[in-house]
Amino acid sequence: MAHPVRFYTEADVEQTLSGLLKLQESDSMLDRARAELEGIPGELSLVESELSAARAEFAVVEARLSELGAVMKKCEEEKADSIRKLAEYKTKLLSLRTNAEYKAMLEQISFVERRMDDLDSRILETMYEEDAARKDIADAGRKLERYTERANRKKELLAERESVLKAEVDRLSGDRSGTASAVPIRLLRKYEQLRASGRSCAVVGLVRGACGGCHTNVPPQNAVEISQGIPYSCPICGRYIVDLDGNRPSEEDT
Ligand SMILES: [Zn+2]
Repeated sequence: MAHPVRFYTEADVEQTLSGLLKLQESDSMLDRARAELEGIPGELSLVESELSAARAEFAVVEARLSELGAVMKKCEEEKADSIRKLAEYKTKLLSLRTNAEYKAMLEQISFVERRMDDLDSRILETMYEEDAARKDIADAGRKLERYTERANRKKELLAERESVLKAEVDRLSGDRSGTASAVPIRLLRKYEQLRASGRSCAVVGLVRGACGGCHTNVPPQNAVEISQGIPYSCPICGRYIVDLDGNRPSEEDT
């Protein structure tokens, strides 16, 4: 059988295409590692925003409890003041001479007593509200603790994952430059162009006589050349089509 050879010897051709495939494998692993690495800051900020929501919830309950504490203090001060006033008025009552004075003082006493009744109900109400708020703050505290623990664990895991991925990217980048240096510059440039145009697979298989990328039929003569390992670029999508012996799945058009 005649082996048409254009720019490379047969051995070169095989090496070139396998180099290109290897490069493509390196690049897709690099793409995956880089994409995951890029997603890490987003995951971290999600963890942070969940945590700060739990902190805000806790702060609201905390503020409510301290507000109730202030109300309680004011009521108790007012009650102590009323008790003092009542004692004072009752003492005065004994020294009053006229009926009018006596009557006026009794009215004052009854006013203070009514005020004290109001204060007692207010104090009782506030006590109930404080109990509820204490329960809420305990719940919010437990939730905050849980979220803090979870966030710390997640941050640790993400930091670990980040350093693993960074090392992987470094290693793969090193491998890639070795692999790329073995690919002839003309093919490499074309490959880079295809990748830059957003085609993740620059090298595809020949699938049932068609381009594995865009499914355009390949003329029989070119299919024969492909099976002989000659670099062939699809005239429609520009991808390199190689004979993968049906071992690789076709890539859907992107
Ligand atoms: Zn194509």
